Amino acid sequence: RIAYVNGRYLAHSAAAVHIEDRGYQFSDGVYEMCEIARGYIIDMKRHLDRLNRSLSELSIEWPVTRSALIVVMREVVRRNGVRNGLVYLQVTRGVAPRDHAFPKPGTRSSLVVTAKRIAPSATAKKAETGLKIITVPENRWDRVDIKSVSLLPNVLAKQQAREAGAQEAWFIDAEGTVKEGASSNAWIVTQDGALVTRPADHGILRGITRTTLFDVAAKLGMKIEERAFSVAEAKAAREVFISSATTIAIPVVDIDGETVANGHPGSITLSLREAFFDIAEKSPA
Ligand code: PLP
Repeated sequence: RIAYVNGRYLAHSAAAVHIEDRGYQFSDGVYEMCEIARGYIIDMKRHLDRLNRSLSELSIEWPVTRSALIVVMREVVRRNGVRNGLVYLQVTRGVAPRDHAFPKPGTRSSLVVTAKRIAPSATAKKAETGLKIITVPENRWDRVDIKSVSLLPNVLAKQQAREAGAQEAWFIDAEGTVKEGASSNAWIVTQDGALVTRPADHGILRGITRTTLFDVAAKLGMKIEERAFSVAEAKAAREVFISSATTIAIPVVDIDGETVANGHPGSITLSLREAFFDIAEKSPA
């Protein structure tokens, strides 16, 4: 495998950043993860627009121009022979002597790009089985709309899920409503077939897959309600699913040990999943 690090293509096993990279010391950086399907980068434009927003919210400079970044992403995908999988990119505020405040002007931000293959059958299998979810209290800061690499609460929540035999954890706010997963957005389908997902204010990440699923739902003539929903409502829903670039839409069949509907992946989720690739923006990799 090959990775890109600050201007160079290196063997993945030997690729490294400096010990004084601010991403390493302070989690002072942002990232994006794009799906690659059948040789296309999915929704690249939306991912780069969100990267731009994350960078500007944190006053981190672009490490290279947007068009140069696209070239690097394609090159990393090509060099790794990825037709189906993921491309990951991370930008940090750069390498500087350790000091919490921003480094001196002119410090270049760091860029790392990696790609990996994932067999489509592996994700398809998850969609056929469905996922188990646990709920955990929200304990993150109030700017999780920024796609920052500062992910410690997400790491701990995901580990808690794993130890409980589940695959995702949902953060629940003080009112008992569902925020989002540790690495996904949360959705339910009501008994009358409407899709419900939380409004993308500062309280959740505005998932790119979430945005594109709005397009897919419109195309399929499904109704969307952007509103908060409670854990109880999710447990009583017709269907429950999560969305992310890694999973697209994957059914949830169990919440905190309680079976959702009949315990089988729902047909509405699967139809969204099926239509997704046709409707998403496809950029040749
Ligand atoms: N919410 C969180 C906390 C995430 O980490 C992710 C993706 O990693 C998402 C939502 C889904 O976003 P996207 O659809 O852009 O992958």
